[in-house]
Amino acid sequence: MKDLLCDQFQHTVAETMLYHRSILDVLAKLQESGARVQRSVVQSVTSCGCQKINANKKSLPSNATLVDLKNLLDSHISGKLCENCRDNIENEIGRSLFYMTALCNLLDLNLYDIFIKEHKHLEILRGYNLT
Ligand SMILES: [Zn+2]
Repeated sequence: MKDLLCDQFQHTVAETMLYHRSILDVLAKLQESGARVQRSVVQSVTSCGCQKINANKKSLPSNATLVDLKNLLDSHISGKLCENCRDNIENEIGRSLFYMTALCNLLDLNLYDIFIKEHKHLEILRGYNLT
C-alpha cells in the first residue's frame, strides 16, 4: 500500500507541471532550487544572524571509536532559526521537493518507493552505527 500523502503530493505536482514538461527544464530548476536552499541557510547566518557557523578542523584521536566520533563531530551551527528564516528555508526546501518530484514524474518513478528504498538503506547503515 502506497503512502497517501506522498502519492497525493506526487499527483498534485504532476497536475501543476504545465510549464515544466521538459526534462531539461526540470533538471535546471532542480539544480537552481538546491542552490536556493543553500542560499537561504547562508542568509540566516549572513543577513539575519539568527544562526552562526563556526567551523574548524577537528583533531580526532586515532583510536576513536564510532561512538566517540559521534560526540566529537558537530554541525558547526549555533543559534536557533528565527521564524522568518525558518519560513524561508522551508519554502525553498518545498520548491526543491517540487522539482525532485517533477523529475520522478517525468521518469515514471514513485516518490514513496524511493523513500522506502532509502529508508531501508539507512537502517542497514544504522545497523553498522555509521549514520
Ligand atoms: Zn533569522
